[in-house]
Amino acid sequence: MNDDAQPDATKPEASFRPRFMEIPSFMRYPIVDDPAAVDIALVGVPFDLGVTNRAGARHGPRQVRDMSSLIRRGHHVSHIVPDALCRLGDLGDAPIHPFSIDKSLAVIADFYRDLHAAGATPLSVGGDHLISLPILRAIAAERPVGMVHFDAHCDTGGDFMDTPYHHGAPFRRAVEEGLLDPKRTVQIGIRGSMSDPHMWDYSHDSGMRVIYIEEFFEIGVDRVIDEARRVVGDGPVYVSFDVDGLDPVYAPGTGTPEAGGFSMFEAQKMIRGLQGLDIVGGDVVEVAPPFDQSGNTALNAATLLFEILCVLADARHRRGGR
Ligand code: MN
Ligand code: MN
Repeated sequence: MNDDAQPDATKPEASFRPRFMEIPSFMRYPIVDDPAAVDIALVGVPFDLGVTNRAGARHGPRQVRDMSSLIRRGHHVSHIVPDALCRLGDLGDAPIHPFSIDKSLAVIADFYRDLHAAGATPLSVGGDHLISLPILRAIAAERPVGMVHFDAHCDTGGDFMDTPYHHGAPFRRAVEEGLLDPKRTVQIGIRGSMSDPHMWDYSHDSGMRVIYIEEFFEIGVDRVIDEARRVVGDGPVYVSFDVDGLDPVYAPGTGTPEAGGFSMFEAQKMIRGLQGLDIVGGDVVEVAPPFDQSGNTALNAATLLFEILCVLADARHRRGGR
């Protein structure tokens, strides 16, 4: 265990163990087995059987853990220090089955049900975007949640090659299963060529608020934040960040990049703008290290993970419970 996992903030960083040492847990938080020992559980989900094209996101959690050692304790704008507000731990990776989507969905959901029953709020790193579905099956079973969803894709598509479970459809399944309230869901950054011009009709038909990238640039970050907050309201909300929502300049290391996206700074500002919402979980997905030659995609994913962690820790602290 890292002696400096929860360092004394009164000491300069150089006085504790250097950040390049030890097993790279998420942001160097303690590696923990018992979910009851944490308020927020950081979890990797190394699953990518849901991708429709370029695989590799199964390697995301390990690479994001490694790059996340660059992240320090506190936020320079909000001054939130997550580990001062909540007990944090890296719970390791959820189990997956490397040859079966169905078995993977089952064991991933079981893992998150245990976390949820223990009172831990999950913050996850994928893996492809299908991982959000078993997570929601665990944490949204009692009532549907709203969602702030950053992505180039709506992920509300139909069956693909006769399978309903792939990374282009988790949120359609989640609505059908009563896990996600489409009227409290906002999707930000949508763009790209389509295999079918009606590919995302389900988002519109079910009542989701879809902010295409053209509208994003037309109205600007502040109004996008206002709109997201209006849509999700005061109820419980999940934050899901697909790194392909970023422009490929910032995130080339992903399976389905789409040119013409928002920047890292715009993404950071949007996440900061979610402070005060009743956030009950989140994920950062679709980092594919085989396409991430510089490691920058994983660094940016770790940075976004920290941004989400700050607003999540603030919400969990104010809520006082799961
Ligand atoms: Mn996605
Ligand atoms: Mn996407």
